[in-house]
Amino acid sequence: MKKMPFVTLEQVREIAKTHPTPFYIYDERGIRENALRLHDAFSWNKGFKEYFAVKATPNPYILKLLKSCGCGCDCSSLTELMLADALSFGGNEIMFSSNVTPAEEYAYASRLGATINLDDITHIDFLEKTAGIPETISCRYNPGGHFQISNQIMDHPGDAKYGFTTEQLFDGFRILLQKGVKHFGIHAFLASNTVTNDYYPALARILFETAVRLKKETGAHIAFINLSGGIGIPYCPDQEPNDIYAISRGVKQVYDEILVPAGMDDVALYTELGRYMLGPYGHLVTQVIHQKHTYKEYAGCDACAVNLMRPAMYGAYHHITVLGKEDKPCDHKYDVTGSLCENNDKFAVDRMLPEVEIGDYLVIHDTGAHGFSMGYNYNGKLRSAELLLREDGEVQRIRRAETPKDYFATFDFDDILDGLSH
Ligand SMILES: *Cc1c(COP(=O)(O)O)cnc(C)c1O
Repeated sequence: MKKMPFVTLEQVREIAKTHPTPFYIYDERGIRENALRLHDAFSWNKGFKEYFAVKATPNPYILKLLKSCGCGCDCSSLTELMLADALSFGGNEIMFSSNVTPAEEYAYASRLGATINLDDITHIDFLEKTAGIPETISCRYNPGGHFQISNQIMDHPGDAKYGFTTEQLFDGFRILLQKGVKHFGIHAFLASNTVTNDYYPALARILFETAVRLKKETGAHIAFINLSGGIGIPYCPDQEPNDIYAISRGVKQVYDEILVPAGMDDVALYTELGRYMLGPYGHLVTQVIHQKHTYKEYAGCDACAVNLMRPAMYGAYHHITVLGKEDKPCDHKYDVTGSLCENNDKFAVDRMLPEVEIGDYLVIHDTGAHGFSMGYNYNGKLRSAELLLREDGEVQRIRRAETPKDYFATFDFDDILDGLSH
């Protein structure tokens, strides 16, 4: 399927007059419609709740928008909890799915009344000492081995640092029951960016069967099952997108087959989607500022890997549109690069694009999740602004671009850099 940007060249030219490139822009309408679709698809489950994975797009305006669509938030660090706190998410709207958790973060999550999702059996004692054991708690399950759908190995949970083993999960539940826990949840995240409608149903089967056994063998009341994140998006134009209604039907089938006959037809389903909620609804917009013709053809941009790390880190594909040339043939081959002194600073390698000229604006697609948030400051490069394209067509700045002053802010404890003019 041809990927079309949600902004036109004319719009970007207008926006760039007040907000110089590079910038991230998010599509409010797309985000809202997608969130409502998710809730509609899972409306058969009474307690359904999506806890947006804050790390995907930790911007308060985005979190507020999602909150207005009925989403809670999934936090895993001090600052993510602070965001949730500042935006008045209620305790039952905050999931705290952390690992290697500092004591102060458990204490904070506990003060907020967040649902704590323990990553390890040793955290039971740790939590008891730092914040006390709440009435409702969740445990993260890691079934080990490899996770397979039909014949395809999706991932290797046995190599992942997260979660309780099966034995620890049962022991953990017994210990928590003794310590007064009344309501339990279980959580697992076994594969990420899955572009198949079968992932959630396969994961649900594992979690539902485990939940039935936990109830039978420990007597625990299972209040919710958290399918976590992992629903992916089609980064490549030739990938078939997930169908959230088909995914939901698949989960319901397993729910009716396993939980209902066990008398567990009141179990709420939770999700902690990040990529699926925001990925397609963000663009990184950058301008071509140099071209270079050596052993290869290079299009050099004003954005670089600090603005979007996924291609450099994972070799991830992100589709690129040359704005205004949407209908031109892709008959030129480029490496699309940033300015870091790092040869992996390439948004695309050997990418076929229409002929690119200096001054062209590029849209780097599907950067709404795990894009801006994975940014860094290598080479002293600065983070860009984030903008929100409102449903009425207005463009709202939802984060300003960093300035050198921000970069040097952590030297403010003495006067060594006082000579800097900003
Ligand atoms: C990262 C993360 C998510 C979100 O993952 P996506 O791939 O963006 O859906 C959800 N839950 C936890 C615990 C995570 O670490």
